[in-house]
Order: sequence, then structure tokens, then C-alpha cells
Amino acid sequence: MMSKSQGIKAIDSISVHRITSGQVVIDLQTAVKELLENSIDAGATSIEVRFKNYGLTSIEVVDNGSGIAEEDYESIALKHHTSKLETFTDLTTIRTFGFRGEALSSLCALTEELTVCTATSTTAPMGTNLVMHSSGKVKEKNTAARTRGTTIILTKLFAPLPVRRKEFERNAKREFGKALTLLNAYALVPCAAPPGIRLTVSNQPEKGPKSIQIRTLGSPSCRDSVTSLWGPKALENIVDIDLEFEVEKEKSTLKRWQSLDTEPVTVRVNGLISKFVMGCGRTGTDRQFFFINGRPCNMSKVQKVFNEVYRSFNTNQAPFILADFIIPTESYDVNVSPDKRTILLHSEGNLVSALKVNTCSFLRMMR
Ligand code: ADP
Ligand code: MG
Repeated sequence: MMSKSQGIKAIDSISVHRITSGQVVIDLQTAVKELLENSIDAGATSIEVRFKNYGLTSIEVVDNGSGIAEEDYESIALKHHTSKLETFTDLTTIRTFGFRGEALSSLCALTEELTVCTATSTTAPMGTNLVMHSSGKVKEKNTAARTRGTTIILTKLFAPLPVRRKEFERNAKREFGKALTLLNAYALVPCAAPPGIRLTVSNQPEKGPKSIQIRTLGSPSCRDSVTSLWGPKALENIVDIDLEFEVEKEKSTLKRWQSLDTEPVTVRVNGLISKFVMGCGRTGTDRQFFFINGRPCNMSKVQKVFNEVYRSFNTNQAPFILADFIIPTESYDVNVSPDKRTILLHSEGNLVSALKVNTCSFLRMMR
């Protein structure tokens, strides 16, 4: 029997924009991450992140990057408009943080107001202030004084999603803490990709003085960035990680590789780790940072290997770890989740096994 029509209709475009944007920018930390990544992609060497009232009132990111050219103003916040990727195959060689062209478009839909103030080397000391419409179109355009670079200000994050806004208001300090942890990972990125970036992160609470939360000096040295974040004591009992090993391509994943070449892949791991001797580690896993070619990401299986191997030497502690995996861009896929924190490694099983063996002998050598 034919059932009665359910009345399937298209969702109006404003609602679709809000629904999909809510998946790209899930919380405070993803909002800030997207802005910071844009600044790094623009070649900035100095970036300032200013939170007002833990991000509840506004978030401002100021950089000295390339700036945005006038002909791009209309498309900066249009969905899937990007200056970083043209075709799908470019994804296998992507080096920039962004490529989906979704962040600014999503942020426009999820904030009370988003403004962009930008100048390029040809327009500076004059720039342009753009007030964006929630659809991503330019609402207002005025000239403004601006040295080369871009400032993005967004006010009242999640105001158009009342339930999420309430949640954010209730947990503002916790959300702010999570954003700072993620910003720490980005403060360490220059270690993987010199020259360093000067990063300053501050918060202006509703009452009381402004506080500086993070200040790095822009040194390409990993150790300098660690000192800037946590003081010189944080470097005590820390050794350099310098590993290189081969990973066999897994047969089952061969079709994921762009080439049919079955040669093993060379993986290098650079970074820092606590000595495994008792007293040198940490009580928790709060200072463990993983990168793939300088891109901060979640690597739960890799993290587990490091912790397991470390515990076989030091039963009660977890190490401080900063590990950057230098691997060919075609050996992983960053386009797994809109926030790009999850990365699909094409031969993860083999990589994890090889890492286990190598970490074990490396830590033994450090005895
Ligand atoms: P994506 O980073 O994936 O390209 P976004 O929505 O984050 O998408 O940004 C859209 C475009 O706006 C970028 O491709 C870039 O050209 C430009 N843009 C955004 N932020 C900046 C910035 N801080 N400096 C220079 N250009 C920027
Ligand atoms: Mg981006």
C-alpha cells in the first residue's frame, strides 16, 4: 500500500547554513583554532589572540600575515571558497592548515557579528574594515588604518544557537581552558616548522585586569617554546626524540595510496620526551602533543604506544611528549572530520607496531 506523502521539503538556506556551520565550529576551541590556522596559513610571524570574558563577549585574532586582497573581499566568508585548494587531488599534497573554505562562513552564521580588518603590503598603512552578514556576504565596507595583516573580531559566539550559547555560558571557564590547551599545541608548531611565530594570548575578564595566558618569543627552537609556555623547569629531564624508521604499506590500504608503489615509507619523528626514570615524568597526560608534518592532531593510537612503552620503564608516570611525525603527504588523509583533528593514516597498524619497537629501543638507549 502506498503510504501518504510525508511532505518532504527542502530546508531553507539560512537554517541549512546554521546546521552545517554548527558541525564545523563545535566549540570555543575550534573557533579559535580556525582563526589561528588562517593566520599561520597567511604567513604571519606574529599573532595575538585576545579573549574578552573568556571568549563569551568576543574573540579577536590579530596577525601580520599577507592580508586579503580587495578582489577577494566578497568571497572570504562564502562557503567552500578558499585560496588554498582547487581540485580534490590537491588534497594529497596539502600543506596548509585550511582547505575546506568553511571556517569564516561558519563563524559568520554562528556569531552576533564578524568583522575583518585587513591590509596587504600594497595598501598598508591603509586597510579596509569589513562587517560581514551572517550569510557570509559583505554588509559594510570602510577604510581604516592598518599595517599589513588581518584582524578578525567575532562577538557573542553561538548567539544564533541559543542552547549551545547557554552551554557555553555555563562552562565558559572550562571551555576557555580547553582552548588554551589547544593554543599551546599551536605555540609549539613553530618547533616543527621554523621560523617561529610570536604568539600572545590574553584574556580580559569582565572585572579585574587583563591577563596574559601565553607568550612565546617566536623562536624556531622547540626548547625555547617549551620554556616560554611552562618555564625553564619544564625542560629538566627532557631528551630529544630523533627516530627514523620504515613502515611497510598495508596491502588492505594500498588502494588508498595515490600510487601503486609498494615501497615502504620512511617516517621520521622529531620532538621531546621525558626521561623514563622515576621522578622525571608527569602524573598525567596533560602535556602530550602530536603533530603530523607540523599539524597538531589527535593521534590516540600513537599516544597509547608512547604511554605504554613509557610505563614499562616507569610504572607510575606518564611522559611529557612533543612528537612531530614527518611523513609523505600522500600517506594520510586530513579530510576526515570538519575540524581536521582526526587524521586517517593509511597504514596506521604498521606504523604503530614500528613505532613501538623503535620507541622501546630509543628509551632503552636513554638509560
Ligand atoms: P580555508 O582556510 O579553508 O581556506 P576559511 O574560511 O578559513 O577557509 O578562510 C577563507 C579564506 O579567507 C582563506 O582561504 C584565505 O584566503 C582568507 N583568509 C582568512 N583568514 C585570513 C587571514 N588571517 N589572513 C589572510 N587571509 C585570510
Ligand atoms: Mg581556514
